Amino acid sequence: MSSSKPTILVTGGAGYIGSHAVLALKAAGYSVVILDNLVYGHRDLVDEVLGVEFILGDTCDRPLLDDLFARHDIAAVMHFAAYIFVGESVTDPAKYYHNNVVGTLTLLEAMQAAGVQRFVFSSTCATYGIPQFMPLTEDHPQAPINPYGFTKLMVEQVLADFDRAYGLKSVCFRYFNAAGADPQGRLGEDHHPETHLIPLVLQAALGRRESIAVFGTDYDTPDGTCVRDYIHVCDLAQAHILGLEYLLDGGDSQAFNLGNGNGFSVKDVIDVANAITGRKIPVQFGDRRAGDSPILVGSSQKARDGLGWIPEYRDLGDIVRHAWQWHQKRHG
Ligand code: UDP
Repeated sequence: MSSSKPTILVTGGAGYIGSHAVLALKAAGYSVVILDNLVYGHRDLVDEVLGVEFILGDTCDRPLLDDLFARHDIAAVMHFAAYIFVGESVTDPAKYYHNNVVGTLTLLEAMQAAGVQRFVFSSTCATYGIPQFMPLTEDHPQAPINPYGFTKLMVEQVLADFDRAYGLKSVCFRYFNAAGADPQGRLGEDHHPETHLIPLVLQAALGRRESIAVFGTDYDTPDGTCVRDYIHVCDLAQAHILGLEYLLDGGDSQAFNLGNGNGFSVKDVIDVANAITGRKIPVQFGDRRAGDSPILVGSSQKARDGLGWIPEYRDLGDIVRHAWQWHQKRHG
């Protein structure tokens, strides 16, 4: 696609949310360069679906970054590359602080040196920690309860200081539960190991695991299971386009929640998956998982008002249907 729109560097563009953002960027007419170390990303999807320039490398590699910025006229960076497993961040915090914090700082320093001043950052509702009120708004105190959440909050702090000192403008998107897949079935979620509810439920539907374990049935929620705010990955991707354009138009640094605004319980997810797959998914009711909040639901009013973001796929059925299409194609 030819266009006069600028080139965007997407780190982690071979991963789940990053790859959907690359598709959205291409559809909006941007040129894209992906940087991904392929520790968790999928090269086959870059080659077969995304078809943009791919650079194999790590955000901790400053010479590689300097070379990348010298060879490409990058207008802005979308930074998805990060480790995301909460449990692992507790047992191996060094891995998380190094990749998520040192890697991001190295990237920001290389951007400074190259004069690139716009940054869209994948943050998380995990920066809020234990909710004091619901729905969570952006002014809720940020007090993470695990190293993963701290790595994201530290980068938010770095970005605020880089803006004050160097004028770097950023949008921090605090995601709730990313879910779903490209409605055309080209891309989807494929984590190894997989820890997220919807893909695990669908793996059980495909017989790739014996059953789905429900972590706790005695929460103070309508059906006793945890309630989460599942947001379609394509709606997340669209928000990134809006955030990018907000920055390219001269917008100030901001943080925005990205959620559906609707809460769905673990049982809701399983019921919808039973209906959509037409299979009776085996369920085992188990104990609570340490560190889980009973309910996490976000207000995305600020993104709606400030960016004009309107999530398209708010129905849990759409989210699960798109994920199911993808899982059948990839693993069926
Ligand atoms: N969950 C579950 N069984 C699983 C995985 C997750 O019951 O095998 C529950 C988990 O306790 C949480 C919800 O599903 O309430 C979403 O979990 P996920 O790991 O997908 O995202 P999180 O909200 O932890 O970021």
